[in-house]
Amino acid sequence: SPMTKERITHLKGPNGPKYTVMVTGAAGFVGMHTALALKELGMTPIGYDNVNEYYSIQLKESRIKELEKHNIDFVRGDVCDVDKLKETIHKHNITRFIHLAAQAGVRYSLDHPLEYTRNNVDCTVNILEVMVELGLKDDPLVYASSSSVYGNNIKIPFHETDRVEDPASLYAATKRSDELIAHTYFNLHNISSIGLRFFTVYGPYGRPDMAPWIFTDKISNGEKIRVFNHGNSRRDFTYVGDIVQGIIHSLFVNTGQPELVNLGNGRPVVLADFVRIVEERVGKKANIESVGMQKGDVPTTFADISKARRLLGYNPTTPIEEGITKFVEWFKEHDATKYRMS
Ligand code: NAD
Repeated sequence: SPMTKERITHLKGPNGPKYTVMVTGAAGFVGMHTALALKELGMTPIGYDNVNEYYSIQLKESRIKELEKHNIDFVRGDVCDVDKLKETIHKHNITRFIHLAAQAGVRYSLDHPLEYTRNNVDCTVNILEVMVELGLKDDPLVYASSSSVYGNNIKIPFHETDRVEDPASLYAATKRSDELIAHTYFNLHNISSIGLRFFTVYGPYGRPDMAPWIFTDKISNGEKIRVFNHGNSRRDFTYVGDIVQGIIHSLFVNTGQPELVNLGNGRPVVLADFVRIVEERVGKKANIESVGMQKGDVPTTFADISKARRLLGYNPTTPIEEGITKFVEWFKEHDATKYRMS
């Protein structure tokens, strides 16, 4: 965005080792967009991802193709593979990290707990250990946390200082663990960090396990959609372009402490209204099966984004109607039904 560019030209200049950034999870949804934006701003992102099979490899390959089209180096590797991590850091002169790789998804965590502890906890410890070992402590670790840490919080909007010790899923527990681990590495090794609590991210190249993707797919194909909590849940849907703006601004902030920051839109949408917006953009009526709350789910997410505004200069600008229009356009153009979860 022009705003991001302006901010950067007032800083040290985006070239050089300070702006050679490893983006873990770069074959993923948020990671791909982050790497593309860094490159567009003149920085040097290095993508790192093990391309796991949680959802369509074909979709991940299409994202990797986008990266390669823009001359972004992509390394296929696991964050838990320390040797590969260090080799990649040395080869590319990486000095900092945007750590987005994770096992995402709340529902999947009910049946696959160990995928979460391994990929979300062990791997994060690995990155921090490597930062200590290689002395890469000048800049904060920027990493993805999640709105899910707020659990069944009933006080809205969610504020960073709210008590978050009541996780509704193992996914949430691993994200909260990341935050505590980042804090521990500050206490022990003086590594500062910025944990970004993303709120339901959606947009082109989005994830086929998430509601925006599933609703668009099924409504387009005339199939029944299941709407949980009878459509009464509220989600603070946040457009991926806005999230990426927040991530990039984090690169220019170092408070010398571990920080936690909400990145949301600050305008929650009732699920039933969300379905209507998708119906309108797709141009078809949904066939709705209304069901109750699911295990692990929370009724509301609603970000207080004043800290992000203040600390990062974050300013989300994409209304839900506009974001869904862009998503549905991408979906049609790419014939995205082929990426459906099996
Ligand atoms: P994604 O699943 O599309 O991307 C994650 C990527 O990480 C995948 O490509 C996967 O192959 C890779 N990965 C997983 N484990 C790995 C490992 N051990 N080593 C290397 N690569 C590995 O998910 P996303 O939506 O882009 O999410 C990015 C981050 O944001 C995640 O940390 C997620 O938990 C967090 N987050 C996302 C949302 C959202 O709505 N999309 C909301 C809150 C938090």
